[in-house]
Amino acid sequence: MNASAGLVVIGAGQAAFQLAASARAAGYQERIILVGAERELPYQRPPLSKAYLLGKTTREGLAFRKQEFFDSNRIELCLGHVATKIDSHDRVLHAGSARIEFDRLVIATGARNRKLRDDLARLRGVLSLRDLGDADQLADALRHASRIVVIGGGFIGLEVAAVARSLGKEVVVAEAQRRLLGRAVSPQIASRIQRRHVEMGIEFLFQSMVANIEADHGRVSAVHFSNGSVRHADLVIVGIGVEVTDTLAADAGLAVGNGIRVDSSLRTTNPAILAIGDCASFPGEDGYLRLESVQNAVDQARYAAQVIVGAASLFYRAVPWFWSDQYDMRLQMAGLSSAADQFVMRGDAESGQFSLFAFRRGRLIAVESVNSPADHVMARKMLEGDCRLSPNEAADRSFDLRSFVKSGKREIA
Ligand code: FAD
Ligand code: NDP
Repeated sequence: MNASAGLVVIGAGQAAFQLAASARAAGYQERIILVGAERELPYQRPPLSKAYLLGKTTREGLAFRKQEFFDSNRIELCLGHVATKIDSHDRVLHAGSARIEFDRLVIATGARNRKLRDDLARLRGVLSLRDLGDADQLADALRHASRIVVIGGGFIGLEVAAVARSLGKEVVVAEAQRRLLGRAVSPQIASRIQRRHVEMGIEFLFQSMVANIEADHGRVSAVHFSNGSVRHADLVIVGIGVEVTDTLAADAGLAVGNGIRVDSSLRTTNPAILAIGDCASFPGEDGYLRLESVQNAVDQARYAAQVIVGAASLFYRAVPWFWSDQYDMRLQMAGLSSAADQFVMRGDAESGQFSLFAFRRGRLIAVESVNSPADHVMARKMLEGDCRLSPNEAADRSFDLRSFVKSGKREIA
C-alpha cells in the first residue's frame, strides 16, 4: 500500500481508536489511517483479565465499534501492520514495505509485557496477558490447570488470580516487593485487598523472585524462588509489569525517558508528532509522569484530537482515575496517592465499603474506594478543582460530600 494521508496513528488500541473517533467528531476532514500490529478491530483490554476470561463477554463484545463505524467515519484501518520506521524529515511512516505519508503523526504504541528470562518464558505452561490472543490461550489453559502460580502482585496478577480462584483452582501469588500493588495504591488499600484474597483461599509469597521453573518434558511442573520456597504448578501466569514501546520514537530522534517525552500539549520534540496513552511521558505537577490506564489513554486522545483541529486548551490536564474488579470488590482510584502524608478512612473497612482519602500538606490529592462508587464520583469532582475538604470532613460519614461539591466550596478562593 502506498498512500498519502493527513493524520496517521501508530497503534490501533484504546488511545488510537479514541483519537480517530474524537478527531472526526471535532471536524477533522483529512484522511485518518490507523496502523496497528494486531489484526482485530480495535478492542478493549480491561475485560481480558476479568469478564472475557470468565467467558462472560464474547470476542465481538470487546470491539469498540463495528467495521461500519470506521467506514462511515472514513477511518482507514491498516491492521496486522507493524510500523517499522518514522522518517520525520520527509513525514513518511514505513510499515514493512508500505510507505505512508503524513501531515500529523500520533504515536499510540502502548506497552508490552516484561518477560521472565527467555529459557523460562519459553516453557509450555508459562503464559502472560496483554492481548486477545494471550487471553484466548490463558482461558483455555485455565480450564485444564489445577495448580497455578501467579508471578507478580500487580493488577494483572490479582485480577487473574481472582478469576482462577473463582474457577476453583489452587492459586499462589508471588510478588517481588513486600506488598501488593506497590505501583498503584496505598499500603492500607493493598492490605485490605490482600485480606480478601486470603479469605478466598489465595496464598501469597512476598519478596519472592523466581529463581527457576522446573519442567517435565518441557511443561512447567514447579516454581523455585530465590528464598528457597518451591510451589508445584501446572500453569504459571506472569504479570510483572510492562516495558514502554518507544523504540520507533527513539530511532526517529524523538526524546524518550520512561516513555516518549511530550510537552504539555502532548507534542513530542517534533511538533508534527504527538504521543498519547501508555507510551507517553508527560509533564505533571512533580515531574514527568507516565500512566497506564484507560482514562489516561482516552483523555489524552481527546485532547490530542483538539490539538490536531487547532482547538485545544493551553495544556493537557486530567485527574487520573482507574478501577479494578476482583471477586465482589470494585476498587476505584481517583488521583495518585503516592505523595500523600496523611490518610483518612471514611466508612467501615470491616463492612467492605469504604474509601481512603489521601492528603498532602492538608490538600486532598487522591481517594481510593472499595465498593463505594458515590465517593469515587465525588472524589473526581473534588479533584478536578483544588479542593478545600479537610481530613476531618472526609472522615465524618455524616458530612455530605454531594452537597459540599454542589455548594461550589470545592474551589479554593
Ligand atoms: P494499547 O491499548 O496497548 O494499544 C497499543 C497498540 O499499539 C497495540 O495494539 C500494539 O500492538 C500496537 N503497536 C505497538 N507497536 C506498534 C507498531 N510498531 N506498529 C503498529 N502497531 C503497534 N486499565 C484500566 O484503567 N482499567 C482496567 O481495568 C484495565 N484492565 C486491563 C487489563 C489488561 C489485561 C490489560 C493488558 C490492561 C488493562 N488496563 C486497564 C490498561 C489499559 O488497557 C491500557 O492502559 C490501555 O489499553 C492503553 O492504551 P494505549 O492505546 O496506550 O495502548
Ligand atoms: P504492575 O507493574 O502493576 O505490577 C507488577 C508487579 O510485579 C510489581 O509489583 C512488580 O514489582 C512485580 N514484579 C516484577 N518483577 C517480578 C518478579 N520477577 N517476580 C515477582 N514479582 C515481580 O504490572 P501488571 O503486570 O500487573 O500489569 C501490566 C499492565 O496492565 C499495567 O499497565 C497495568 O496498569 C495494566 N492493567 C491494569 C489493570 C487495571 O487498571 N485494573 C488490570 C490489568 C492490567 P516492581 O514494582 O518491583 O517491578
